[in-house]
Amino acid sequence: MNKCQHIGMIMCNATESILWGKTKDWVFGKNKAITFRSRLGTGLKTYCRSYRNIKFEIVYGSKMINSKFDFAQAQCWTTGKEILERGYFNGTLQLPELLSHTVCHEFAHLVQFVKGWVYDNNVHNKYFYTILSRIHESGIANTLLEYINVEAKNAGILLEYDFNDDKKMEKFKTGDQVWFYVDNRRVEGEVKEVIAEKLKIKPFDRWNEKGVWTVYKEQVQLLRF
Ligand SMILES: [Zn+2]
Repeated sequence: MNKCQHIGMIMCNATESILWGKTKDWVFGKNKAITFRSRLGTGLKTYCRSYRNIKFEIVYGSKMINSKFDFAQAQCWTTGKEILERGYFNGTLQLPELLSHTVCHEFAHLVQFVKGWVYDNNVHNKYFYTILSRIHESGIANTLLEYINVEAKNAGILLEYDFNDDKKMEKFKTGDQVWFYVDNRRVEGEVKEVIAEKLKIKPFDRWNEKGVWTVYKEQVQLLRF
């Protein structure tokens, strides 16, 4: 088991013992047949899903964890942005906080699904953020943070960003989905061509459908969900 898989297992245990432990009585009050498990995935994908609102599962991708060890990438994840923009954990984007918040985020989806608070296929709605904020305000997020810190320390894993190796630039390839800023406006699109230190990017936006932008690689980030 590598470092990220180990951290992933700690996150799974934290989800089941702390969050599920504190919530299951309420969940069973809604429906006794509901089951839950949390497991480690291999890729980037990290999600909460349900089968017919009965079997719930939260998956933490080990590549997601690996990418969060990189500070530049950490800021690009929805969870990283939530800490910075919504001020969870006092707006501190440190690795233990980010991993703990990731657990809170996925579990907030479980509560959201049980409550049926998904409208127009939009999961990151105001109801979701009400739940997520409640997880933080209740102190459970801090309990998680402490658990993850202690377990990582016991496993000899340092939860700090990897700043050591020369910042290798993202290796972009045609077809990658990316984003960049132009005049304080976030533009998302697809890489059409890689040329030396620049990329040709076609924005998803309809108003710009025919345009292709040429942007320096260092101004571009991979789009992650
Ligand atoms: Zn989400």
